[in-house]
Amino acid sequence: RAKTDGRNRYRFFDSSLDAAARRRNLIEQELSLAVTQESLTVHFQPLVDAQSRQVVCAEALLRWNHPTLGAISPGEFIPIAEETGQIGAIGSWVLRQACKHAVNWPDHIRVAVNLSSRQFLSPGLLPLVEGALKQNGLPAHRLELEVTESLLMEKAIGVEQTLACLSRLGLRIALDDFGTGFSSLSYLRQYRFDKLKIDQSFISDLETNADSRAIVDAVIRLARDLRMSVAAEGVETRGQFDLLRQMGCGEIQGFLAGRPMPVDQFEEYLRQNSISVERLYA
Ligand code: C2E
Ligand code: MG
Ligand code: MG
Ligand code: MG
Repeated sequence: RAKTDGRNRYRFFDSSLDAAARRRNLIEQELSLAVTQESLTVHFQPLVDAQSRQVVCAEALLRWNHPTLGAISPGEFIPIAEETGQIGAIGSWVLRQACKHAVNWPDHIRVAVNLSSRQFLSPGLLPLVEGALKQNGLPAHRLELEVTESLLMEKAIGVEQTLACLSRLGLRIALDDFGTGFSSLSYLRQYRFDKLKIDQSFISDLETNADSRAIVDAVIRLARDLRMSVAAEGVETRGQFDLLRQMGCGEIQGFLAGRPMPVDQFEEYLRQNSISVERLYA
């Protein structure tokens, strides 16, 4: 640390650093209590077949409503949980919750669970997944695991083997946030995925940006040629939906079809949209 010459200036920087560090420590401490205090919940967001407008999948998304700090976004606490290793316990809990609920849904609806790199690389992953499926009686083909390119960038040994073992269980693997990482295309040659999820940054300006349109169109065709399914994330407008449907996109996910919802609300949504999602016809 710098000597205390010009003390005030340093104190200014120190205290703002302290504030960030304090919040981080607080989050870390509170997170370890959160699961048991039931302030962590899992919400579900529908993925809808773009042609039939049927709900085909739901993504499990963590929510944390802290008694005094309020809602803390997964974008803030997941990276902390990854660093500290708390993601192990939390991630296992999310997976079991997802399987437990999905088994009550119609057979054609899958559930998707996000896996952090650390979870993916842990030796306990396979028994965890097998256990969660078996204990809840969920057939493997109804589970999707979402991984990101950051995992593949780790170049850790065993990634390929773990992906293969998971596939052999019969579940699907989706590559999340596709297009935002580095050298995505080489990963497609190296690893076998069942689904590509096009990142929402390409979807948000689909109507106004011809380049985004060209990229999305190409990715959809690429996925089809490589026999992968394809989903678009963050679909918010009717115009985006229409373009994606015309391009032959398989599934859409976003506020247009439905927000992430607590499980009771999601199951009510399923009942109300059992044939197809009505608001997508408006
Ligand atoms: P993700 O897996 O890419 O999830 C999609 C994110 O987009 C979610 O943010 C979702 O709420 C948001 N979203 C969905 N539709 C729309 C839309 O139409 N417009 C906009 N603007 N946003 C939309 P969320 O829930 O804040 O989660 C952020 C990220 O945190 C996730 O990104 C995922 O990487 C991570 N995450 C969430 N839950 C878990 C979990 O259980 N385990 C792990 N490892 N990561 C998780
Ligand atoms: Mg995801
Ligand atoms: Mg994503
Ligand atoms: Mg994303």
